[in-house]
Order: sequence, then C-alpha cells, then structure tokens
Amino acid sequence: MPPSSRREFLAAALAQSVSRPPNFIVLFADDMGYGDLACYGHPTLRTPNIDRLAAEGMRFTSFYAAASVCTPSRVGLLTGRHPIRAGQPGNTGPDTVGGLPLSELLLPQLLKARDYKTMAIGKWHLGFQPAAQLPTKRGFDGWLGLPYSNDMIPPWVKTDRPLHLYKNEDSIEQVTDQSNLTPRYTDEAVKFIRANKTNPFFLYLPYAMPHLPVSAPANRRGRSRAGHYGDVIETLDWSVGEITRTLKELNLDRNTLVIFTSDNGPWHDLPPRMLAGGVEHWHTGSKGLLRGAKGTTYEGGFRVPGIFRWPGVIRPGEVSMDMASTLDILPTLLAVAGLDLPKDRPYDGHNLLPHLRDGKPSPRQEFFYALGKTLDGVRQGPWKYRQTKGSGPELYHLDRDPAEQYNVATAEPEVATRLAARLKAYADEIRADLAR
Ligand code: MG
Repeated sequence: MPPSSRREFLAAALAQSVSRPPNFIVLFADDMGYGDLACYGHPTLRTPNIDRLAAEGMRFTSFYAAASVCTPSRVGLLTGRHPIRAGQPGNTGPDTVGGLPLSELLLPQLLKARDYKTMAIGKWHLGFQPAAQLPTKRGFDGWLGLPYSNDMIPPWVKTDRPLHLYKNEDSIEQVTDQSNLTPRYTDEAVKFIRANKTNPFFLYLPYAMPHLPVSAPANRRGRSRAGHYGDVIETLDWSVGEITRTLKELNLDRNTLVIFTSDNGPWHDLPPRMLAGGVEHWHTGSKGLLRGAKGTTYEGGFRVPGIFRWPGVIRPGEVSMDMASTLDILPTLLAVAGLDLPKDRPYDGHNLLPHLRDGKPSPRQEFFYALGKTLDGVRQGPWKYRQTKGSGPELYHLDRDPAEQYNVATAEPEVATRLAARLKAYADEIRADLAR
C-alpha cells in the first residue's frame, strides 16, 4: 500500500475503532515451546495456518510468557501485572480453595466498559472454588473448559476429584477421553464468532494441548512425521485455521486482532509421576536452541512463540527482535479499545500498539524472571542477569549467545552489578506494593 493510502486507511481504521472497537482473539497454547512451530524453525512439524498468521502479521523472536508455569502465566496475561504483585505466583490444583485474588481486575472485566462480548474456551487454572473464582464471575459472559490442567487426575496426580468439563458455572461431564478437546473448543469458538459478528468481542482460547498427557483426535492421528506430539500440534494448527477461515468468511479480518502464543516452554524435566498412562518423554515438544524449559528461569521456560496479526494495521511479514510479553497484552488491548489502564494500581505491562502499528521500538525495555515468589533474573537489552540460590551470578548476552552457554559475569562486572541492583530494586518495589 503506498504511504498516502496507508495513512488514509489508518485514519479510517482509527475512526472506525472510535465507533466500534476491534475484536480480540487470544489463542493460548499450553506448554508449547519456542521451537514447536514451522515458522520458528521446527524441522518436521507442519503448521501452515499458524505460519500464515505470522506471515500476515508480526512474529516476535523475544516474546516472553509472564511465568514459566501455567497459573502465574495466565495471571500475567489476564491482569497485566506481575504474578507476584497480583498475589498468585504459583500453580493451583484440584484441591485448591481460592486462587487469583478477587481484587484483581481481569481483561474481560475492563473490556466491558466498551460493551465487548467476552468468552473463555479452555483451561482456566485461576481457581474454581468457591464459584466466585470462575471465569463467568470475573468478566467472561461464558466459559466452556477445564478448571485446571488436564494431568490433574490419576495416574499423574493424586486426587479424588474427577476432571470435569465446565459450562459456565456447572460441571457438565467427566472427561475421560481428552482426544476431542481441541475440536470441541474449536467448534465452540467458531460458534461464538458467528454469534457475535456484529458486535465487538473478546475470545480467549487457552487450549488444553500440548500439555501432558497429549491427545489428538482419531481422525488426525498418524499424520505427522513428528509422531503423536506432532499430531497434537498439527491439530492445534487446524484449529487456528478454522478460526481464521471463519474471520475471513464473515469479513471480520480487518477488524480483528489475533494473538497466538503459549503459557510457558516445554516440560522437559518432568517428574517420574508423569511417565505413566502412555506419556513419553518426547511428548514434550521443543525449546528450539534455547536453554532450560518449563519451570526454570532460563529462556526455554519463558521465551515462547508470539504472533500478532491485524490486517491493515500490522504490516505483513514483520519479524520483531524487540522484547514483548504476555504482560503487555492487557495494556495493548485496552489501548486499542480506547480505554485507559485503571489508575488505582501499578501495571507491569506496556502498550505495544506503537510498535505493532508504526514500527516504533517496543516500549518493553526489560523483563523479570521469577519462579514462585522468587525473582531470579532480569533482562535489559541483550543482557540477562540471573542469580539463584546456591549458584553464583550468571550474565548472558542473549543476542550473541541466545542459548545461555557462556556466563560472562566475571568479564562484565559493571553490567552484572547494574542488573543485580535493578533486580533488587524491582523486588523491593513489589514487596512495598504488597505491603500497602
Ligand atoms: Mg503451561
């Protein structure tokens, strides 16, 4: 598009967004690693629909989940606040009472100020008892999905509570066969999009897969060269294709921002209890060239695929090496919807719109890595500083050494000291915030 018509288009898009804000779809894979898509370099997985999403929008190479395990990662995405600050830095389980504090404001609640219809389809994992914790009590008009992870039943996890599929506030059936979860979620998503084609909507689709135990529907088994795990990923890709096809068919393409990402990296160092019920080590996907995995503060735990597509606003084929995070989704979506961030609390996310739309540098200049309540690391520019109990300080130059192989803390003492001070200052700031 020539610059003049692009300007006109943007002006028209902006004018339209004042009267009717755009739709948002967040497609959130579970435990999918940085290397699990063809467009991120996987040698045998075929993901043409997700690759097309990337080709039609912006693909990030330094996109960070808010945490390297499931619950706090979702906390960061839906609140725009660091999971420690938001009061839920660890995972919840089938026997947890409570969860994400009810004082937290979630993205769907905030979007209600512009009359968005809101729907959650998939894994919640922010608490399910009492009922006040459920999605429909926290800004979503509807919910179909699992209250927590798909492995939280025997033989993988000791509990007497069966795994139930919920519809809104009711458990509607016991899930014994997980192979049809992805097609079922997809059908529900397509139905929701069709029912809301004339009003702004927010669809949040946190898939159950590829979290262990992975399971693909019967009609999609044995197709992928990457084996059973490949069938599962290629089923997710099919799902993304169904959703984007529906948007095109309903002419909603140019009025919908679609985001695809994952909640954390692959579960490589899984405990022995997980190797039961048909689960194999190679069902855990790929971190690509990164170090570490789920549950660590190395890049393989936090750095995930991050794709933003909004035809007419985000230029096609962009690859961004700037930093961005799921923490930035809430501030970005609020800005696009013409809403301000609430002023009664601090936010850890940034509005990415000037980066996505105008190619300005990403406003995210630093990222903090935590495991549970402990902040272990910080990245600023190419430098990542990491310090864990029982190990000395680590410093990596992630541009030159993305696999975190060469600790240069001794060679670069000034950088290490500066980042150590920044990490401490951030931890102190959160502690003071929590004490208020
Ligand atoms: Mg996960």
